Amino acid sequence: MIKIEGLHKSFGELEVLKGIDYEINEKEIICVIGPSGSGKSTFLRCINMLEEITAGSVFIDGVKVNDPKTNINDIRKDVGMVFQQFNLFPHMKVLDNITVSPRKVKNMDAKEAEILARQLLEKVGLADKANAYPEQLSGGQMQRVAIARALAMKPRVMLFDEPTSALDPEMVKEVLDVMKQLAYEGMTMVVVTHEMGFAREMCDRVLFMDQGLLMEEGTPAQIFNHPNHERTKAFLSKVL
Ligand code: ADP
Ligand code: MG
Repeated sequence: MIKIEGLHKSFGELEVLKGIDYEINEKEIICVIGPSGSGKSTFLRCINMLEEITAGSVFIDGVKVNDPKTNINDIRKDVGMVFQQFNLFPHMKVLDNITVSPRKVKNMDAKEAEILARQLLEKVGLADKANAYPEQLSGGQMQRVAIARALAMKPRVMLFDEPTSALDPEMVKEVLDVMKQLAYEGMTMVVVTHEMGFAREMCDRVLFMDQGLLMEEGTPAQIFNHPNHERTKAFLSKVL
C-alpha cells in the first residue's frame, strides 16, 4: 500500500534521510522507533508530502506522491496525520475542528459533516465535547479530537508522530486505547512512538531508525528480544 524507494531528504546541507527503502501492506501496524534527531518525523512527513522529497519516491496505492502531476490534496485525503502537539484550531469548537476539512476539501454538506463528526466523537469517547473549545480540554481529550479530525477525511492510512509524548502519564492510555481500537478495525497505521509496550503489543513490524537510516526492522519479538545491531541494542537498553 505504501512503497518507499531510495528516500533521501536534506535540509540545505544537512542530510536527514539517507536512502530509505520500505514497503507497508494494507492493515499493517508499523512502529518507528529510534533516538531523537534520527529522522523519524521527517520520514513520516515525507510520506504525506508535508516535506518535499529530495530524492527517491513514495508511492501510495501505486500513485507516486512526489510526482508533479499528483494532486497533493488527493494524497492528504487518504493519509491522516496526528501530531505530538495536537495542532487543533484553537478558535474553533471541537465540532468545527472535525467538520472543516470534510467541508472544505471534500465539499461535504454541513449536515452530513456534522453527523460524521458526532459519530467520530462518540467513537473517541468525547460525544459530550462537541461544543467545547480546545483550551477547555485536557491533553488526552485534545489528542482524541485530533484523531477524530483525521478520521473525518476517511483516510486509508494514519500516521502518528509521537501522539502521546506531550501528554501527562495518566492520559496516555486513553489515547493508546483509541489507537488500538483503530488497529483492530483494520486501519493501516505508521506510528512513531516511545511507548514500547504499544509497539510490542500492537505492531506487526518495528523499524529502528538511526542517523537517517533504517538500521533494522523486524517483528516486535525480533527487535525487542534479539536485536542484531549494536545501535539497536544500545537504544533499547536506554528505553526498555
Ligand atoms: P526525530 O523525529 O527522529 O527526532 P526529525 O525528523 O525531527 O527527527 O529531525 C531529524 C534532523 O533533521 C534533526 O537534526 C533536525 O534538526 C533536522 N530537521 C528537521 N526538520 C528540519 C527543518 N525543517 N529544517 C532544518 N532541519 C530540520
Ligand atoms: Mg520527531
